[in-house]
Amino acid sequence: LSERLSQAMKNITGQGKLTEKNMNDMLKEVRMSLLEADVNYGVVKDFVARVKEKALGQEVMESLNPSQMVVKIVRDELQELLGSSDTELTLNPDGLTTVMMAGLQGTGKTTASGKIARYAKQKLKKKVLLVAADVVRPAAIDQLQTLGQQVGVDVFTLGPDVTAVETARQGLDYARENGHDLVIFDTAGRLHVDQALMDELRQMEELIHPDNILLTVDAMTGQDIVNVAKSFDDQLDITGLVVTKMDGDARGGGLLSVRSITSVPVVFVSGGEKMEDLEQFHPDRMADRILGMGDVVSLIEQAQDRLDMEVGRQSADRMMNGIFTFNDMLAQFGQLEKMGSMQGILKMIPGLNKMAAQVNDEAMNSVMKRNRAIIQSMTPFERENPSCLKASRKQRIAKGSGVKVQDVNKLIQQLNQMQQMTKLMSGGSNMNAMMNAMS
Ligand code: GDP
Ligand code: MG
Repeated sequence: LSERLSQAMKNITGQGKLTEKNMNDMLKEVRMSLLEADVNYGVVKDFVARVKEKALGQEVMESLNPSQMVVKIVRDELQELLGSSDTELTLNPDGLTTVMMAGLQGTGKTTASGKIARYAKQKLKKKVLLVAADVVRPAAIDQLQTLGQQVGVDVFTLGPDVTAVETARQGLDYARENGHDLVIFDTAGRLHVDQALMDELRQMEELIHPDNILLTVDAMTGQDIVNVAKSFDDQLDITGLVVTKMDGDARGGGLLSVRSITSVPVVFVSGGEKMEDLEQFHPDRMADRILGMGDVVSLIEQAQDRLDMEVGRQSADRMMNGIFTFNDMLAQFGQLEKMGSMQGILKMIPGLNKMAAQVNDEAMNSVMKRNRAIIQSMTPFERENPSCLKASRKQRIAKGSGVKVQDVNKLIQQLNQMQQMTKLMSGGSNMNAMMNAMS
């Protein structure tokens, strides 16, 4: 999925100019790659329709970089599909937080119990208790005990002869008596969703009133995730999903469909059998990963949010005509300030992040402030016609902005350098522009 999508995105950004044709090509490619990844047909249809609708909005068509905007729209919609924000474990502020696991056999409940125990212990600094409430298979108790030992948390079990519900009840008491503040109940699963399984889980739900009921679903089962999640959510109050076996050759379709169809958020994804193979799920990062774009997207986003496009385009036009005056310089300062720290910008550009350390934002800002004051002390005529700046004008400007005449001279020098550059850029042959700039 990722490869095909990111290729489609690269194709369209490479084209610079957005046309109806290359946008349709791109959308077709997006549609195909989602279907190929086994994303639910209805979800794909809605997705493509939404992207198209947004992309055809006037905003996008008139902007500086239309194709980049389309990439951003695809990316935003992808994130929306995966969930608009992160979902965390719900922690009980009064002390004991409870987590009940649910899921079909073999989807990774017991493994996930161990992983979440480790996560809660290390990241949330909780005193964790694992409760072995899967008494269907004796081996499940041993498995949980081994995992508990591995991650260094207590495991509560009454053996295979006591019912799951009774084990859960006593496990909860044990946690209260022994100062645990997060309890995870591992439960039994069956090969198919059936009433006996649901009844047991519902009994347990009524008894524990869990803060979290996490459903494990196997990424390898593709769209089937959606059906399983639906049937569990009908009977239990599922608070979140743990999508397991993301390390297999899953095509991602289940992950992409499940949120919009069931509205149950993904909380964790697991990509391996080891206890550390568990990640909190971040829809935005997953969207970026699927598109293979990294931080470049957030850079586009920031630039868009903060730059005044119109100003940018006007001064670009002027520069192409070899014009660069104090007004253009002032506009540039404004743009730079809106972008925020220069260091921050450099860090996000692949290949330039090493330069970030060499930039001193504070020094740059104070120079910029002083230069801005100088320009603001000029009359409109002076700003557009820098060559008129002789001694008496310079003295007045220096006084007005509280700097030395040398500082004014320095800034005029800078402007001259910029003017030379813009003239080179415009080919130096544009007499009109030169006349305008010099008169
Ligand atoms: P349960 O029946 O739901 O408790 O499932 P288990 O936790 O016993 O897991 C079933 C099998 O899947 C075990 O062999 C696990 O090691 C394996 N497993 C669980 N999660 C993952 C995962 O994220 N990736 C891989 N590759 N294997 C996993
Ligand atoms: Mg198990």
